[in-house]
Amino acid sequence: MKSFDTIVVGGGFAGIAAARELYKSKQSFLVLEARDRLGGRVHSSKVLNGADIELGGQWIGPGQDLMYQLVEEFGIETYRTYDTGKAVLDLNQRIKTYSGLIPKVDPLSLYYIDRTIKRLDKFAATINLDAPWSHPKAHDWDSMTLESFLQKYVRTKKALKIMRAGMETVMACSTAEISLLHVLFYIKSGKDINTLLSIENGAQQDRIKGGMQSIIESMAKPFMDKIHFENPVRHIEQHDDGCIVHTPSGTFLARKVVVAIPPVLAGRIRFSPSLPIAKRQLFQKIPMGIVVKCYAFFDRPFWREKGFSGEVVTDENCPYQTIFDNGSPHAPYGVIMGFSLAQRASELMKFSKEERKQKMIEWLERYFGAEARNVMHYEDKCWADEEYSQGCYVGYFPPGVWTHYKDEIRKPSGHIHWAGAETATIWNGYIEGAVRSGIRAAQEILSTDG
Ligand SMILES: Cc1cc2nc3c(=O)[nH]c(=O)nc-3n(C[C@H](O)[C@H](O)[C@H](O)COP(=O)(O)OP(=O)(O)OC[C@H]3O[C@@H](n4cnc5c(N)ncnc54)[C@H](O)[C@@H]3O)c2cc1C
Repeated sequence: MKSFDTIVVGGGFAGIAAARELYKSKQSFLVLEARDRLGGRVHSSKVLNGADIELGGQWIGPGQDLMYQLVEEFGIETYRTYDTGKAVLDLNQRIKTYSGLIPKVDPLSLYYIDRTIKRLDKFAATINLDAPWSHPKAHDWDSMTLESFLQKYVRTKKALKIMRAGMETVMACSTAEISLLHVLFYIKSGKDINTLLSIENGAQQDRIKGGMQSIIESMAKPFMDKIHFENPVRHIEQHDDGCIVHTPSGTFLARKVVVAIPPVLAGRIRFSPSLPIAKRQLFQKIPMGIVVKCYAFFDRPFWREKGFSGEVVTDENCPYQTIFDNGSPHAPYGVIMGFSLAQRASELMKFSKEERKQKMIEWLERYFGAEARNVMHYEDKCWADEEYSQGCYVGYFPPGVWTHYKDEIRKPSGHIHWAGAETATIWNGYIEGAVRSGIRAAQEILSTDG
């Protein structure tokens, strides 16, 4: 059996950020990754003889300081998300166009949307990101879902539908499934709602030339020989002086282990002796959101010629909560991407891929005209079908979880330290958060090692 200072489980951004810290500190380490590639929930691929397609995480935006540092360190170019022209709102089977962040609706609905966003931001600003459960109102907020909050404060059906579409796009789960306290934590963790929803000055502002995966590949380049692919960890034994880590193709010894995978997947690893009951229960209580990213490629972005930005916000009649122009200035193609999330995603996945393609054509024709029929290529990816993700963007907290389990999500268990986007306090759920969590877990180990 080979022996290391640390074994890192998972070669996503969290695991590789942890490994990078260990590498810089000259620790011996090994990364065990279940898939045959780096990146986990980030997956940059190619279609149509070389056009980039981001099947997973793709955007960075202001405030994600570590991501911009990495981009600069590796000399990687970014480019702006296309955001020029009119957006479309499809509500109650009526189409309207608008500009700016908030769709144009009747004044009363606008008032409720504005008031609700301000109220959510105001509450979120009072959350302690290191301890959301310590807020004086934590129990009230953690016993409510986001949906019950919206129903209380948003008094028109149109405003309610728009708030749902926006918040589902941010959280990738139904507003009825998620704790209000968790939503407030998530909002503060990424600054405020405008930042989470916006393209310009928001979390969707910039894209990576060559794909998001190129960043993680650059991070891991100096220690690629220390990454074992297709090595899913199945069992971790803890002993007084370290751990024995088992995969189907090998057994490895280490003094410390960083587990950098979503909680739902950590719950599938056998730990002996068993982890404390609170940790085991927690793993069962943080489900993953559901996202299907649906792409249509065209010979050119014809909607831009008609003054459309490509952005669409819809109600529950459409399979996609939101639609974006996801083209790049480095390829001639026009690229439209629809986010099908939560229940709409489960419904969409009942159809075959060919049927899903036809649906996308029909909806795009409704928004941008008959040229939408000239799709050159259709691609989609349902992250709930991925064995080593089980969903995305991130594991979310239903009611009662924060106030019951408090700091359990990050608390080390003997020699085992926990990382991953779910454990982040800043930019929780985002790639930036994953990187921060990996650095934090590595620093926990390096500090206990003196
Ligand atoms: C469709 C989609 C869109 C998104 N959009 C954005 C965006 O635009 N911007 C943004 O910042 N974030 C976005 N996100 C979220 C972001 O991608 C994730 O938060 C982040 O990549 C998570 O990184 P991680 O390292 O914590 O986890 P993962 O990326 O899930 O990494 C975990 C790794 O562990 C491996 N693994 C799992 N189980 C085992 C095991 N038992 N043994 C060994 N290895 C194992 C997995 O294969 C994986 O490689 C998006 C995610 C998705 C899927």
